Amino acid sequence: MPVLFVGHGSPMNAIENNRWSKGFRSLAGLLPQPKAILSVSAHWYVAGTFLTGDEHPKTIHDFGGFPEELFAVQYPAPGSVALAEQVAKMLGAAVRTDWGLDHGTWSVLCHLRPQADLPVVQLSIDGRLPPAAHLELGKALSPLREEGVLIFGSGNVTHNLRHAFTAYQRGDDTTPDWAKNFDAAVAKAAGNHEGTALANLARTADGRLSHPSPDHYYPLLYAQGASDDGDRVSFPIDGFDMGSLSMRSVIWG
Ligand code: ZN
Repeated sequence: MPVLFVGHGSPMNAIENNRWSKGFRSLAGLLPQPKAILSVSAHWYVAGTFLTGDEHPKTIHDFGGFPEELFAVQYPAPGSVALAEQVAKMLGAAVRTDWGLDHGTWSVLCHLRPQADLPVVQLSIDGRLPPAAHLELGKALSPLREEGVLIFGSGNVTHNLRHAFTAYQRGDDTTPDWAKNFDAAVAKAAGNHEGTALANLARTADGRLSHPSPDHYYPLLYAQGASDDGDRVSFPIDGFDMGSLSMRSVIWG
């Protein structure tokens, strides 16, 4: 099974028919049908590594200030307690039932798999760990690929919301050099299977501008960690939203 990273961008991509949501839909044709999906979402960024162990995970609307229509979206995919327990054992993590599927997961999957019929388990990101540790956790997930589990990282290659909103309010959609350069450096490192380089990029000057908080970067490290050097690397979606928000997606395999 290939490994997938998607730049999810605005929650509005769940309900808008735009360049990005069309891109999310097109991903389905590029992947074999998985048995289950393990989603590493930027939006479950907590002090620990946890798995959602619900038979029917809740759809979580983890944002404010968006239209009612977005709060009405449900993604009623089943969970998989067995997969959650299996992954918890592989990572030395714990299963919890106080989360669910947040918009990092469903704003993409509602296009990629609108039937919502495949079991989905979320994996949290322990914000206390250094970048290299997320790469290692990703590597520990790689055996799941042979079992038909789609390892799906959902974040953004660049994610400086303060910059994006300020530029948006000014009506300025030019992409700043730090975003362009960081996005290009990520594409190069991912394309060359350079996991350590990807982890180190988080701490460069462009990395800090691109990620004032690294929550949206770390899902990429899980996906990279789960990949291997024999995978073909492709970028089915690229480009920027709101000037500086990279929407780059990556498929390994
Ligand atoms: Zn997000």
